[in-house]
Amino acid sequence: MSGEEERFKLVVVGGGGVGKSALTIQFIQSYFVSDYDPTIEDSYTKICTVDGKETRLDSKSPSRWIMSSHCLSECGVMREQYMRSGEGFLLVFALNDLGSYHEVQKFHTQILRVKDRDDFPMVLVGNKADLEQQRVISREDAQAFTREHRIHYMEASAKNRYNVDEAFLQLVQIIRRFQEIESPPPQSHHSGKQKRGGCPCVLL
Ligand code: GDP
Ligand code: MG
Repeated sequence: MSGEEERFKLVVVGGGGVGKSALTIQFIQSYFVSDYDPTIEDSYTKICTVDGKETRLDSKSPSRWIMSSHCLSECGVMREQYMRSGEGFLLVFALNDLGSYHEVQKFHTQILRVKDRDDFPMVLVGNKADLEQQRVISREDAQAFTREHRIHYMEASAKNRYNVDEAFLQLVQIIRRFQEIESPPPQSHHSGKQKRGGCPCVLL
C-alpha cells in the first residue's frame, strides 16, 4: 500500500510543433512558451484537486525525436514504453495542421495496439484554437472521429489558456472512471465513505 495519495501518469502525444510542451507548461506553470527546445523531453508533476480529491499528476511528453514518425527501430521501442506506462493520453494536434491530425490518429491506433484494448482513457485536443482563420480541421470532423472511437474531443489554446486545465482534468476524470470499472475496490458493503473508489465520480 503506497498511502492514500491518488496518482496518475499522463502522457501527452502528438506530432512536432502542435503545442504539447506549451499545453503542459501552461497547465503546470501557467505561462505560455513561444519558443521551446523541441529536443527536450517534458516531465512535470502537479498536485491538483479533482472532484474534491487531491491527485498527483505526473505528466510526460516524449521528445520530438522519439515521437517522430520517421524514427526507426530504437525509438519505436521507446515510444512503446511511453505508451505502455501511460494511464491516460492527451492526443494533441494543431487545428491549422492537417498532417498533425492524421498523425494523431496513428497515435490513437498505436496506443490501443500497445494496450491491447478497444478503449483506453484518451482525450483528443485540437490545439491552437486562437488561430481560427488558419483552421483546416473542422470541429465536426474531429467530433466524428471521437464519436466513432468513444473518446472526448476538446479545442484548446495553450496561448490563450483556453481549455487547458479542462483538457487535463477531463482526462483525469476519465482515467479514474476507467480504473474504477477495471479494478473495482474490494467489497466493503458500501460502508466507509472514504474508502478507495468511494468517490462518486461525476463525469462532466
Ligand atoms: P511541441 O513540439 O508539440 O511540444 O510544440 P511546442 O509546445 O513546442 O509548440 C510549437 C510552437 O507552437 C511554438 O512556437 C509555440 O509557441 C506554438 N504554440 C503552441 N501552442 C499554441 C497555441 O495554442 N496557439 C498558438 N498560436 N501557438 C501555439
Ligand atoms: Mg515539445
